[in-house]
Amino acid sequence: MKFSDIPGHDGVKQRLRALADNDRLPHALLIHGRPGVGKMSMARALAAYIHCTDRRDGDSCGVCPACRQHQSLNHIDTHYSYPVLKINGRTTTVSDDWNEQWREFLANNPYMDFGEWLRLLENVNGQPRMYVEESADIMRKLNFTSHTGRQIVIMWLPERMGEECANKMLKLIEEPLGDAMFIMVSNDPESILPTIFSRTQRVEMLRLDDDTVTRYIETKYSMPHGDAAALAHLADGSILQADYRVSNMKRQQEFLDLFMRLMRLAYQKRVADLRVWANEVAALGREGSIDFLGYCLDQVRENFVYSLGIPGLNYMTVDETSFARNFHKFINERNVLELTSRLEQAIRDIRANGNGKIIMFDFAVRVIMLLRR
Ligand SMILES: [Zn+2]
Repeated sequence: MKFSDIPGHDGVKQRLRALADNDRLPHALLIHGRPGVGKMSMARALAAYIHCTDRRDGDSCGVCPACRQHQSLNHIDTHYSYPVLKINGRTTTVSDDWNEQWREFLANNPYMDFGEWLRLLENVNGQPRMYVEESADIMRKLNFTSHTGRQIVIMWLPERMGEECANKMLKLIEEPLGDAMFIMVSNDPESILPTIFSRTQRVEMLRLDDDTVTRYIETKYSMPHGDAAALAHLADGSILQADYRVSNMKRQQEFLDLFMRLMRLAYQKRVADLRVWANEVAALGREGSIDFLGYCLDQVRENFVYSLGIPGLNYMTVDETSFARNFHKFINERNVLELTSRLEQAIRDIRANGNGKIIMFDFAVRVIMLLRR
């Protein structure tokens, strides 16, 4: 990771570079800001810059052995510390127990999507943290002689340190071993224990400007400039938000296509095609099918409301509205309640591990009758 790999943030790069160039790096640096602005990339770029043996043009070279080790997360004097979950049946848990998942996470999520980290920890409802053993583990690592002049601990989300852990960590930060340096990356600095927070030198990374986010969307998703700019505006300066919005948009389009096909095929009583349709929905998987049925519930409501002729009550995209213009008259007081309850029943059946293909086909056939009311 080089400074030049990170979009925006010229002022922060300038400042970090100057700290390293003038040998004024603090023992504990805290990089903070909202999720999705590139804080972890900045921490990694700084660490690589510090260790690089051939800095050029105010950046690490990217090719010396130190740079290559940083890229592959194998740099001998760089240690990562991050919140984890207790492993069943174990009394102690440290970051390294989840090393494999962490490597996968860093490789695929440069903007540190916390939801993705929970998925890798195999518990989307978990509350990962740094346990008290973490501080002893870091101390043990820092006790080894540095090979490259400076040991660096990159710590993700110090706000998730338990109090016991934080108190022990405090000692390390107050009286660092050798010239060890902590680079902390926080989404929520106000939740860091004050004793730790007060001993850090802070660098804030602000929201990215809309032009930077627009360029990111254009490049990553090959999207036309106008659409990218509209999404960037909604992303509010966060690359993570931009990614979420793009994937939601794609999903919404896919759901609308399935919804329109269902209604057209049901109206034309094309039973064989409805079976193909049901199989396609089932192929979205259990969660995907439930999300789609939830989308259908919304669309049924929207089309019913559309008939009332009060535009302020509708929440539809341009494409949804253009379908509703002709379709809304098929959703009326004679079928809206039963359509809704059939959809809710299908959701319950799929939740209960029913066969998706059968449930969706059964629902589709009922839609044929309901549309004729
Ligand atoms: Zn280098």
